[in-house]
Amino acid sequence: MYTLILIRSIDKQELEVTMTQSFEIAVFEGDGIGPEIMAPTIDILEKLAFASSDYRLSFVACAAGAAHYRKTGDSLPKASLDTAAKADAILLSAMGLPDVRYDDGTEISPQIDLRKAFNLFAGVRPVRARPGDHTPLKIPQGRIIDFVLIRESTEGLFHSQGVGEVTAHEARETLLITRDVSEKLFRFAFQLARERKDTGRGPGRVTCVDKANVFRAFAFFRSLFDAEAAKHPDLIADHAYVDATALWMVQKPWDFDVLVTENMFGDILSDLGAGLMGGLGLAPSADIGLEQAVFQPCHGSAPDIAGQGKANPIAMILSAAMMLEWLGLKHDVPAMIADGQHLRDAVDAILGDTSLLTPDLGGPNDTAGVGRAVLKVLTA
Ligand code: ATP
Repeated sequence: MYTLILIRSIDKQELEVTMTQSFEIAVFEGDGIGPEIMAPTIDILEKLAFASSDYRLSFVACAAGAAHYRKTGDSLPKASLDTAAKADAILLSAMGLPDVRYDDGTEISPQIDLRKAFNLFAGVRPVRARPGDHTPLKIPQGRIIDFVLIRESTEGLFHSQGVGEVTAHEARETLLITRDVSEKLFRFAFQLARERKDTGRGPGRVTCVDKANVFRAFAFFRSLFDAEAAKHPDLIADHAYVDATALWMVQKPWDFDVLVTENMFGDILSDLGAGLMGGLGLAPSADIGLEQAVFQPCHGSAPDIAGQGKANPIAMILSAAMMLEWLGLKHDVPAMIADGQHLRDAVDAILGDTSLLTPDLGGPNDTAGVGRAVLKVLTA
């Protein structure tokens, strides 16, 4: 939505017209530590938008998750789904509780239902670490870890979630790779590699991560990747088996630029990516489709630390930075792209001071205190 602001410049006696775009954000604060990490994130976003004359943000709370299921028998109410469908973007913290399950024993995971409902095929997981950061790796001088893992998020092995067949003697799950989703996924991956190349973030390289030497489904996946790669002769395209990728993510992660892979492989590798950064509390993500997108941290609801003020909100805050950039790019609002970058820079700035961080990063601070520290850098 656009708001027209008319400004009369008294000195020049002329009329200037500024467009302020307004965006509605559907907010799922979810379970466990979800509400705790969402609160400082919304606070930061409100202050950034308030300080900008180029965009406005409004937030609509959406009920969903395991606690909601326990209360009402519904894990993702239709009203919440409708609000999310109409919103400009979706911000989600974490959902699910280990002791609240559907009748078949599987966990409550409306975030997966949202991915399917809105065809959010591209799970984008940036992995960044500089020498001296909280990474467990020793990064050689002059190198940084800065790559993006794209996890297909609607099919693959998760296709049979909840409908796998189990008898007394065997269990069977089906992996699905479709041409339609894979083509969109690879187009997205090459477009991202091009954006990164154009902005000096990467060499313009896309690696297809699969197991094409063993499974026909992955040979099909790879052939679709190669077909898309042929349309981008200016970008580098290569392949890696998933097991070797796990090894190289530890041995030489600075060599990667954009990795694209199947849902289950991506689920596992993205936790490895979070480990490279120094923990789940630092790993943001986005699930992006052609129209809608959900921004959420890679971690779960961490019920073991819920309600204690120990949760690290940085992954959630960095996911909000990704949301600002995605909205800014989609709607051509450079100020939002710039604010996304400012937010990331503010997080980088506090990461250098352990006294500002939560216990998972060796610090004494609490969740709200980390939010305040980020805001202080932003407003300095
Ligand atoms: P899911 O299957 O829903 O992804 P999970 O079983 O992987 O969840 P998490 O909830 O992500 O588990 O938690 C894994 C561990 O990491 C827990 O010990 C938890 O306390 C810790 N953890 C996760 N997120 C955070 C955070 N934001 N701050 C601090 N610790 C966290």
